[in-house]
Amino acid sequence: MNSTQNNINIAWPNSQKASGLNTLEEIKKAADSCIKCKLCETRTKAVVQDGNPLAKLLIIGEGPGEQEDLTGIPFVGKAGKLLDKILEAAEISRQNETYICNIVKCRPPENRVPAPAEIEACKPYLLSQIEIIKPKIILLLGSTSLIGLLGMKNPKITKLHGQWIVGTEGILKDIWLMPFYHPSYLLRNQSKEIGSPKWQAWQAIKEVKQKLIELNAD
Ligand code: SF4
Repeated sequence: MNSTQNNINIAWPNSQKASGLNTLEEIKKAADSCIKCKLCETRTKAVVQDGNPLAKLLIIGEGPGEQEDLTGIPFVGKAGKLLDKILEAAEISRQNETYICNIVKCRPPENRVPAPAEIEACKPYLLSQIEIIKPKIILLLGSTSLIGLLGMKNPKITKLHGQWIVGTEGILKDIWLMPFYHPSYLLRNQSKEIGSPKWQAWQAIKEVKQKLIELNAD
């Protein structure tokens, strides 16, 4: 069902669209041999997850890049290193306090944006991951995450970055969602001046840390 929040049109995903797989191991196994979209033809390794399955903070990126495709681990290339720095600066432990995955599990050739059909084919795995992890907060990195998970049309990450959106129904009900700049975008925008994307990212990650503290106190 669609709903509007903060003037944003969202199609909340529900359980019926999930994969039906009940464990992260099953999802990993299914993705490793998945042929549901063309990305299977060029992948080296499917990239399913990293971090702590018990984490309250779920981070969702777009898709694997070269290093991720080779290692099978999300966010290990340059963008991943910057993500690590952002988390460290806010004293959020990547390994203990986050679970990280992507909209599509296989690398799009030349790191192109995943096609709508590829996003839809892979979505059941992502929805099952969310059902199993049961995060309290989801950080949505870049506009592909907003399109892939929330069904947004042409989202403007520069406008949405740092805004809290609270899930109202389906799998995302009561989850605190925050659109956030993709680290690749931050790599291309190095300024740290007040108001710059990096400065905004720092403000936003501090809010995420604060929300984690509040939720841990509940
Ligand atoms: S991207 Fe997703 S749907 Fe496509 S082959 Fe890989 S695991 Fe399957």
